[in-house]
Amino acid sequence: MTAQPLPPPADTTLELIGRTPMVELKGFDTGPCRLFVKLESANPGGSIKDRIARSMIEAAEKDGSLKPGGTIVEATAGNTGLGLAQVGILKGYKLLLVVPDKMAREKIQHLRAMGVDVRITRSDVGKGHPEYYQDMAAAIAAKLNNAVYINQFSNPANPLAHETTTGPEILEQMEGNVDAVVVGVGSGGTLTGLGRFFRKASPKTRMVLADPVGSILAPLIERGEEVTPGSWVVEGIGEDFIPDNCDLDLVAKAYEITDAESIAAARMLLTKAGILGGSSSGTLLAAALRYCREQTEPKRVVTLVCDTGSRYLSKVYNDSWVAEQGLVDRELHGDLRDLIA
Ligand code: PMP
Repeated sequence: MTAQPLPPPADTTLELIGRTPMVELKGFDTGPCRLFVKLESANPGGSIKDRIARSMIEAAEKDGSLKPGGTIVEATAGNTGLGLAQVGILKGYKLLLVVPDKMAREKIQHLRAMGVDVRITRSDVGKGHPEYYQDMAAAIAAKLNNAVYINQFSNPANPLAHETTTGPEILEQMEGNVDAVVVGVGSGGTLTGLGRFFRKASPKTRMVLADPVGSILAPLIERGEEVTPGSWVVEGIGEDFIPDNCDLDLVAKAYEITDAESIAAARMLLTKAGILGGSSSGTLLAAALRYCREQTEPKRVVTLVCDTGSRYLSKVYNDSWVAEQGLVDRELHGDLRDLIA
């Protein structure tokens, strides 16, 4: 193998966002398929959200809603916040984040260490409630001077970042040949951006949704069923509403994945491939493995490691926490056994 020339030093970490590596998963039971993972955890802020942080901030600068020294307000599971902090500190913006209280403490510590004003709110209330994280962020931004609610759920610069960067990178890395991409939905940016890109650039590529049990999305897609939202421990994906940025028509197939299966898959990714991913990466991997095994023809399937698992050492990778959550009962062992090739 010829060594590729290394790029010269970057001016700032902003230039290091994107162009993330991809690796094939070997030794997993993928049926007739080959499965590849794109390591979004390799972004400087540690997640796929660096890409949208940069594009949403730059769009707000361009349209004049964000002025020098201004405050960016957002509702986030943590990763968008970390991405916004990553980009914001380099561009001189203040950041105020409203975060639901179920999120891992590593993310909160990381955000506070970056000087972010973090407001924790309830994760047991829905849209329309004043303590719902998105309603709270919008209300705070409306009261502050020189502040913008960046709103990843409706901001078109979110899917655009994936349409213009993540999608083309995947197609290039897969040498133009990709049959399916397995994604989760938090804001819908990844799904919609990648779906739009592949519809034009590679129409054969199917978008597959990995959704936690309790989310409303997969039952709607698979059975047209409108379920009452439940709760799940996986962070960053699964929805109790359909965000503006989420175009479900792009989804060819959806899987409902239990927390136990997500955690088992995340841990398997670490023990078999040496990749430390977050909880949502476990959900995506579990769905990708199911999809691969259901195929009768060889397919080339891609999924994402959305963020680094170092953010979840106290949860996903902590045996006592997993046991406390009741995620290791017999049934789950069944899932686990099923997952391990
Ligand atoms: N994985 C993780 C860890 C996330 O934080 C998010 C976003 N909240 C996603 C996946 C989902 O991505 P999107 O917002 O583009 O739907």
